[in-house]
Amino acid sequence: MRLALVNDIRCEAAPGLAGICQQCRSPLIPKCGNIRANHWAHRGQRHCDPWWEETEWHIAWKNRFPIEWQENVHVGQNDEKHIADVKLPNDCVLEFQHSPISDIERASREAFYKSMIWIVDGLRRKRDQQSFAKTLRMISQKPLGFTGFESECALLRDWIGRPVDVLFDFGTTDADQSAFGKPVLWQLHPEPKRRVLLTPVYTEAFINLMHKGGALQRAFFNPPQQAPRLSPAQPSQSFQQYSRRLQRNRFRF
Ligand SMILES: [Zn+2]
Repeated sequence: MRLALVNDIRCEAAPGLAGICQQCRSPLIPKCGNIRANHWAHRGQRHCDPWWEETEWHIAWKNRFPIEWQENVHVGQNDEKHIADVKLPNDCVLEFQHSPISDIERASREAFYKSMIWIVDGLRRKRDQQSFAKTLRMISQKPLGFTGFESECALLRDWIGRPVDVLFDFGTTDADQSAFGKPVLWQLHPEPKRRVLLTPVYTEAFINLMHKGGALQRAFFNPPQQAPRLSPAQPSQSFQQYSRRLQRNRFRF
């Protein structure tokens, strides 16, 4: 963790400090070495919050927001507590998800935080980026949507049907770079009936929007659309056409 209580003030780890965990109130040890950024650790390996995970990807994302917004304890019903990765001043929680997570776990976090956005590491599994791009090429609508979900993309199958926005982060890809000129996140809109509705959102624009307390744009589903069939004969120009159209008509908040 980046933050612990020192004399009841949230502080970053430094040699010689003794911290208290904001969540469980147990003593924390400052870890200050050359490999990882300074952080606090519980004695032993286990973190007190079963929802907790922290990778370099998490740290980079959290650091795109003020430190006051990072690692705040969120108290739900029955005094259940969890440390939110980033909690915006409007109480919306940004949950950065790298590890595999079950539908039950997803639902329990959504019920706990109520107002939240998932930001999902699209690079954890080897094939997700490729199969996601392949799926995009099959969709010709603007916004990119389809029903009758049969995608080969495991990432979409995992995250479809959430009642809140999900943003997939594939980092900086050549395809996005050439289509949009800068990194984008792919927004999977909350859609009933397991429909898929995707729009690209500039990463930078998303961060600015969150800083300003804005809400993500809601796209409208445009049925009917058949489920994409992934076959070599399928034309793959639709996504390029879509990108060109986007660039012409600009896509910004
Ligand atoms: Zn703790």
